Parts: sequence; structure tokens; C-alpha cells
Amino acid sequence: MLNYFFGLFSHDIGVDLGTANTLVLVKGKGIMIREPSVVAQHKKTKQVLAIGTEAKKMVGRTPATIVAIRPLRHGVISDFEATEAMLKSFIKKVHENPGSTLPKIARPRVVIGIPSGVTEVERRAVADAAKSAGAREVFLIEEPMAAAIGAGLPIDEATGTFIVDIGGGTTEIAVISLGGIVINKSIRVAGDEMDEDIIAYLRMRYGVLIGERTSEDIKLTIGSASPYLKGEKEMVIRGRDLETGLPKTLKITSSEIREAISTTVSQIVNAIAETIEETPPEMVSDVVEKGITLAGGGALLPGLARLIAQETKLPVYVADDPLTAVVRGCGKLLEDEATLNAVKITRGLS
Ligand code: ADP
Ligand code: MG
Repeated sequence: MLNYFFGLFSHDIGVDLGTANTLVLVKGKGIMIREPSVVAQHKKTKQVLAIGTEAKKMVGRTPATIVAIRPLRHGVISDFEATEAMLKSFIKKVHENPGSTLPKIARPRVVIGIPSGVTEVERRAVADAAKSAGAREVFLIEEPMAAAIGAGLPIDEATGTFIVDIGGGTTEIAVISLGGIVINKSIRVAGDEMDEDIIAYLRMRYGVLIGERTSEDIKLTIGSASPYLKGEKEMVIRGRDLETGLPKTLKITSSEIREAISTTVSQIVNAIAETIEETPPEMVSDVVEKGITLAGGGALLPGLARLIAQETKLPVYVADDPLTAVVRGCGKLLEDEATLNAVKITRGLS
């Protein structure tokens, strides 16, 4: 009753605490924040200097005294203080009076989607961080569940729903039925690994060194998992010649980049195939009928859905706006108390 009263005055919030990007949605308003999960801090004092987009700009450009870190990079929280600072900053930012402490009456309920590899201790830490940022109540949701809800899949029916969320640090594969995760496989291979593959490939093949942001840019511009149907692409890039130490310009093609990331792409496809093998037979027939849904930024890699369909012989669909599926799932849960209570993670939380 009291909570209902408070609810009238607060803007409940959904958060996708991703390994690469953090998104914040405000109930009734939509997505308000989409920023990289990056924190720049002073190396020795740990003082936070920048968060999000501003901090990502610093990656590869920091002087020795500053580090730009991605606290969730591998799907586990490597730096709790940085995660807490990031979460607090984003939650405060969407609130009307940033900086000021929230009046008790306007404390939001917060639904947070987190990678399923995050440990119980870390989950509690995330919940505590959200509470100290002003949340009245915190609900944690496993990322693949939130992605499936955001993608509009029928998670509470007695039918197997197959979802794959390919993010920056992790690929999460899950089969969901009756509101619960039946099978969950999480591998620490996703978009970041592809970026690293591209760096290694250009160094080996051309003796040219590029940074992380350039390699992601290459992937986003000419990357693919299977040949481009409308002709291959090419791109001119700049890096450092390892022999001379001087800048060097190179023209690279999409088929080279496909080769560079092929091992990583295969690892993702194999993990999906293994999960299908582990799926109980009744649910396999559901998946044959309804297919596999891809979410997360990696779902946008051209030709990936096609490749997965070829390898698994199953229909594969990409969720609408796959980068926002998790946060939209959290948003839907803010409006559906019954489903929220059914799917929230309770283990390890008070
Ligand atoms: P997370 O949930 O782990 O934060 P996201 O779902 O936000 O991750 O996805 C981020 C990853 O998706 C990054 O590795 C990014 O490079 C990749 N990505 C984003 N857009 C594309 C695209 N069009 N093609 C290929 N990869 C993409
Ligand atoms: Mg994600």
C-alpha cells in the first residue's frame, strides 16, 4: 500500500548493466541513457574522472596516471568500486535533480539486467550500489531472460524459447520455458574477442599495430560472418608499422576480416549447437518450430544469423533493435508485477 503510494511519485527505472554498454530506461519515458560501460579513474588514488561516453573517448589515449577500465568486461565484475560509481552516476543522471539526494518519496524501483556469470556476492553488491544510488527496491534479472522478454518472446508459456545474447564480453545462450531458464550456457567470447582477433590479424599479416577502438570500427564497417551477398567491402585504415615505428595506411577487405574473426564466430556457433544438443527433445521441437532469436550488439554482425541457420538447420531471427532488447525487457517488467516476481533472481539476495 505504502509502496503503491510512493510509486505514484517515482520514475521506475530499468537498467541493462552490460559488459560493453549500459542502458537506462525510465518507465513512461523510454530509454534515457545509452553509454559505454567504461570508467576512467586515477591510477593511484582511484578517483573517478569520467564515466561512459566521455571515458570511452579516453581508451588508448590516457596518460600513465589515468586508466580507462571496463569493470564488467568479461561478464564478471572485475572492479566493484568502478561498477558502483557507474551505476550510481547513471541512475542519478536520469533523475530530475542530479547531484541532490533523492527525496524519499521519489525513490524509484529499479530492475537491473546483469550477465548470468555474475556471482552471488557480486549480485548483492550491484543491488547495494543501486540502493545507495537511491533505489527503493532492486530486482535483478538474468540478461538472457531480460533479452527474451524485450524481444517479445513468450517466456511464460509451456514451450521452449531459444535466445542468444551476443554482447561485448559474453555470449549468453538460454532455453526458457514457463518463466524459468531451463538451460543456460555463457561463454566469454563475443564482440570484444572479434576486436582482439582483428588486432592480432593485422599485426601478423601486415606488421601493423592498431588500437581497440580502430579494430571495433573496422568490425562495424566491414565485418561479417558469411560473405556479403551484395559484394565484398573494403576500407582504408591507419596504424603503426611495427618495423619502422611510423604510421602506415592499409587497404583491407571484408573477406580478410571475416577470416580474422572466423575462429571466434565458430566458437559462438559451436556453443549454440552444443546447447541445442543439451536441450530436452520436447523443447527441441519447439525450437525447430519457432527458431532461435538473436539479441545483443553481436546479432548485428552481417551474415551471422545466416551462418547460424546454416549450421544448426534451424530458423534464426534477429530481435528488433537487438542492442536495446535487455533494457526494454527490464522496462516491460516494471509494468508487469507478476512476471517480475516470477523471473527475478532471488538466490543470494535478501
Ligand atoms: P553488452 O550487453 O555486453 O554490453 P552489447 O549488446 O551492447 O553488449 O553489444 C556490444 C557489442 O556488439 C560490441 O562488441 C560491439 O562492437 C558489437 N556490435 C555493435 N553493433 C554491431 C554491428 N553492427 N556489427 C557487429 N558487432 C556490433
Ligand atoms: Mg547485453
